[in-house]
Amino acid sequence: MDITSAGPRDQRRFHVLGVPVDACRDVSAAAIGVHADGGGQIVTLNAEMTMAARSNPRLAAVIDGADLVVPDGAGVVWALRLQGVRVRRSPGIELAWDLLRYAEAHRWSVALVGAAPNVMERLKERLMVERPELRLVFSQHGYLAEDAWPGLEAQLTELNPDLVFVALGVPRQELWAQRLKSNQAGVWMGVGGSFDVWAGTKQRAPQWASRLQIEWLYRFLQEPSRWRRYLALPHFVWSVLVNGSQQRPAKQKQAKGRRVE
Ligand code: UDP
Repeated sequence: MDITSAGPRDQRRFHVLGVPVDACRDVSAAAIGVHADGGGQIVTLNAEMTMAARSNPRLAAVIDGADLVVPDGAGVVWALRLQGVRVRRSPGIELAWDLLRYAEAHRWSVALVGAAPNVMERLKERLMVERPELRLVFSQHGYLAEDAWPGLEAQLTELNPDLVFVALGVPRQELWAQRLKSNQAGVWMGVGGSFDVWAGTKQRAPQWASRLQIEWLYRFLQEPSRWRRYLALPHFVWSVLVNGSQQRPAKQKQAKGRRVE
């Protein structure tokens, strides 16, 4: 990414199983464009989230309303390809790190919310070393008692940061960001397990696993207790093959009618 020029947003919206996803020539430029346009929400879409959106209308509505939906997973890229749309996979963790670099270079104020307390501590230590000029104005781990959240939210929205990363897991992080981002000038983005990787407590799949499109297998082997989540993947592939990749979620069909691309 050329961090000295934002470039045009250059963004076209498509749908995978009725869930929107944007094709952009340069995702980082498009993300910076969200800030230039007055702020908004970025969602990073993979097969698992696509399936979650099909059974969770609130999540589906958040993705529909997002300013930028990035093709984060190989499954989404594959489903788009079946429609004749060729995009590169844009892992959310890489986009998020690009945005941090941009934020440092452009003196953006940054807030980080989520992950375990020790992860947040280690992440801040790493950022102090690697991004020493970063204006980190707010950081909070994600395991607060329920009654502590309203105060935290008020403090955060008062700060109105340029960039807010939320690591609370899907769909909570997307719903939370959507609720708080209104009237805010910044970019809000759910980053899943990125803080754990940046802090060094979890490993990202190696390049070869990404190339073979088996990153999910690597993650599964790291956390086999989450096997249930991976059932969404064959279901996704099956749904795309049987129904065609653009089909809308059944629950939204009646309300929104047929969408013509
Ligand atoms: N997380 C959190 N509070 C919670 C649940 C999760 O801060 O109540 C954090 C968790 O520690 C991790 C991140 O959210 O850093 C993403 O969690 P997970 O890997 O489960 O999310 P997903 O795979 O859905 O993105």
